[in-house]
Amino acid sequence: MRLTQYFLPVLKETPSEAQIASHRLMLRAGMIRQASAGIYSWLPLGYRVLRRIEAVVHEEQERAGHIPMLMPTIQPADLWRESGRYDAYGPEMLRIRDRHDRDMLYGPTNEELITDIFRSAVTSYRDLPLTLYHVQWKFRDEIRPRFGVMRGREFLMKDGYNFDLTREDALHAYNRHMVSYLRTYERMGLKAIPMRAASGPIGGDDTHEFLVLAETGESTVYYDAAIGDLAFGRRQVDYGDRAAVQAICDEWTAPYARTDETHDEAAFAEVPQDRRRQGRGIEVGQIFYFGTKYSETMKALVVNEAGERVPVHMGSHGIGVSRLAGAIIEASHDERGIVWPEAVAPFRVGLVNLKQGDAQADGECAKIYRELVRVGLDPLYDDRDERAGAKFATMDLIGLPWRITVGPRGLSRGVVELTCRRTGESEELSSAAALARVADIYSRL
Ligand code: ATP
Ligand code: MG
Repeated sequence: MRLTQYFLPVLKETPSEAQIASHRLMLRAGMIRQASAGIYSWLPLGYRVLRRIEAVVHEEQERAGHIPMLMPTIQPADLWRESGRYDAYGPEMLRIRDRHDRDMLYGPTNEELITDIFRSAVTSYRDLPLTLYHVQWKFRDEIRPRFGVMRGREFLMKDGYNFDLTREDALHAYNRHMVSYLRTYERMGLKAIPMRAASGPIGGDDTHEFLVLAETGESTVYYDAAIGDLAFGRRQVDYGDRAAVQAICDEWTAPYARTDETHDEAAFAEVPQDRRRQGRGIEVGQIFYFGTKYSETMKALVVNEAGERVPVHMGSHGIGVSRLAGAIIEASHDERGIVWPEAVAPFRVGLVNLKQGDAQADGECAKIYRELVRVGLDPLYDDRDERAGAKFATMDLIGLPWRITVGPRGLSRGVVELTCRRTGESEELSSAAALARVADIYSRL
């Protein structure tokens, strides 16, 4: 993309309404624009990030064997009356009436709708296990929408639902979700810690939240610093191997990690003093096993091997896709702007022409640009007739991980400059070598 042909409405001023860095930076970098409280348009740059986050989420869900689909945003109230949640949900639910006076709602989540789909089609244990998911907009009329996309009213969520014959099978689905979520966050450059959350109606260890440590997080968290040493790296996961998946979950949940909702002083005191940490965290996901809660009330039954009709065991599992855009920025920015991890960067490489209009610089940039496009490296070429300082400031603000800078002085020596946004380090090398370096970095993602 050439910047002169793009839509990147960056702001010079720091917006006064934004209280935290990610909100400020998303507005300044022209990623989002508020339509009304807690409801945002995703401008082209923000939309690119959202799609990248979504792509990682899809890849990891499909790797775990979960099946993508798409349910609507608007749902009939009757299904929620059946489960008993229509009245229970309260003022966070946006209720709508259509022209035929039918009660509808903008879905805050999808347990009822998916259970209805399931029961209409599945009647035998032979069709299990089954995990379906979608990435769709949700609406919750939050009492205090704030921090930009972090606590919106309309927000994008990946929500998945597992259907299993037994509690044991459903707990394997739960574990698959835990592992796939940990991989998802790690790929986005985030350390998200699974923390035991307030237990659901079934009791026990049946729900975990995933929290990214950040001073601006809304939850108070207590954890053992040893959790910081855990990482997947290049490790392969066989999602069909129950014991292996369980072992990974055990590894990640062994160190103490709780939010204030479930914090237990006595258990925390057993963590060696020098490893005890208290901080703040952003909830970027939650997984839940709730057994037969919906399948009993909504009659989602299957015939088991013995020929009996039994309610299926279910769980639901969510990732805050749009919140992640903010959370990643909270975890990765500096005084100059955003520092995107490679996996979610809106463009992979920035190309800066120091002397627009100079035949040699223009020619070399055009060549590099074509080559970057050809190998799928998705460049943003700043071809504006602007000072170098302004071009650098824009690139730093929007946070592209790598920048290639081309100017007449370097070209006279046969070099361009390759700069890493994270470290600020620059290196002079031939344009071919710069291209090869960037291609190599992205090929290892
Ligand atoms: P919170 O406690 O932050 O209100 P929640 O526990 O009600 O969230 P879940 O039902 O667990 O939310 O939804 C799954 C994920 O969706 C959350 O982990 C979070 O990342 C995201 N999410 C929830 N509410 C919002 C919101 N208002 N704005 C943006 N993302 C949200
Ligand atoms: Mg939650």
